Amino acid sequence: MNVESYDAVVIGGGPAGSTCARELHRAGLHVTVLDRAHFPRDKVCAGWITPAVITLLDLDVDDYRRGRVFQPITAFRTALLTGSARDTAVRPDLETRYPTPVSFGIRRYEFDDYLLRRCGADLRCGEAVSSLRRRDDGWLINGTIATPVLVGAGGHFCPAARWLARESASRTGRGEERRPVVAAIEMEVPLTEEQLAQTPEPPVLRFYDDLSGYGWSFRKGTFLNVGLGRRDARELPRQARCLLDTLVSEQLVPEGLTAPLRGHAYLLANSSPRGPIGDGLLLAGDAAGLADAHSGEGIRPAIESGLLAAATILATNVPYDRTQLEPYRQTLRHRFGTGTTGTGLRPRVLPRWLVRSLANGVMRSPWLTRHLVLDRWFLGRHRPALDTHGGARLSGGRLVMRSTR
Ligand SMILES: Cc1cc2nc3c(=O)[nH]c(=O)nc-3n(C[C@H](O)[C@H](O)[C@H](O)COP(=O)(O)OP(=O)(O)OC[C@H]3O[C@@H](n4cnc5c(N)ncnc54)[C@H](O)[C@@H]3O)c2cc1C
Repeated sequence: MNVESYDAVVIGGGPAGSTCARELHRAGLHVTVLDRAHFPRDKVCAGWITPAVITLLDLDVDDYRRGRVFQPITAFRTALLTGSARDTAVRPDLETRYPTPVSFGIRRYEFDDYLLRRCGADLRCGEAVSSLRRRDDGWLINGTIATPVLVGAGGHFCPAARWLARESASRTGRGEERRPVVAAIEMEVPLTEEQLAQTPEPPVLRFYDDLSGYGWSFRKGTFLNVGLGRRDARELPRQARCLLDTLVSEQLVPEGLTAPLRGHAYLLANSSPRGPIGDGLLLAGDAAGLADAHSGEGIRPAIESGLLAAATILATNVPYDRTQLEPYRQTLRHRFGTGTTGTGLRPRVLPRWLVRSLANGVMRSPWLTRHLVLDRWFLGRHRPALDTHGGARLSGGRLVMRSTR
């Protein structure tokens, strides 16, 4: 059987994979991206991106918005879900406005396709990775593709992440570690003109008063995305239906939306058990479990880790062994808090009644809602984007990059 060789192979054409592949291709490496899906493909996701994402991607917004949804967001309506079941009673909404866009709405169907096509790497869409074999000189993928270095960016169920978990369990003699995931569920529907007229523009955010997650309704262009994400997945579909009914009764969402609810699970960075490196292997994005512990934002960490994985590969050389790739692990730990233990939005040390009472106080205060809930937790505005334009260098066992401010 013919074996094709590449300098690097990326599994997964989502934001992590396409970003990493683009950087490697631009540096002159012969790279391929394998994705089991044909693009454009759907991805269960609300589709919020922060301005940092646009900076990180060097996105030509004028080009992107031509024929694609790109919804600037300058206001939010927020409220707390309270009551014994915490899914019916709702405090009146607070509206927080901003002078300039603080977030944007995209459709993953369009966004991921755009990024993958512009990355310049050799694309193998519709080609699932079904076998990974470690050899002395690197990897043999699906028996036909050879490379010294592999980037696992195949999302939560990435085959490279699973390979690494098994390898690490057999190397250390410990079982595969399990940590809680966040589960999220959503529907994305096109709106008729009449429905559009009935849907207010500012996105609606409804936070659970035990700080275990939040629900949203989010209009972007002529589409509406409604969903919720929580650490406790048991009642997610029922709670999502209940949220939808409440929003319809409050005339924030039009009646008669019939699309199916689709769900997906992923890991938060501060409770991710996934070691992101192995010999000749780096995990990025959801494969490494990097989503933000407060907001569940995963696109930005996917892109940042894609950039960092590429910078690590470019700053290293064959054989790309685990010791050489250690700076990547250290940098993810430093940037995203991976390898630490936490529980997301809810502070671990506080009893639930106190968390609820604090949440009530915070969400009733316009100042705290703006500065703490939205700016800090939801939008992460205090975190500058990585600046990779000056390149990266290895220093003191870490990858050093500049930040944009
Ligand atoms: C309901 C919901 C709402 C969300 N909303 C937001 C949001 O608004 N904003 C935000 O920032 N984040 C959000 N997230 C998180 C975000 O979607 C992810 O963190 C992000 O998509 C991670 O990107 P990625 O590139 O790591 O993986 P993905 O985007 O999952 O891409 C992985 C790719 O790998 C491919 N793949 C998988 N297995 C294989 C295989 N065996 N062989 C080849 N290819 C394979 C898949 O087809 C896929 O294209 C949300 C998540 C959920 C579940």
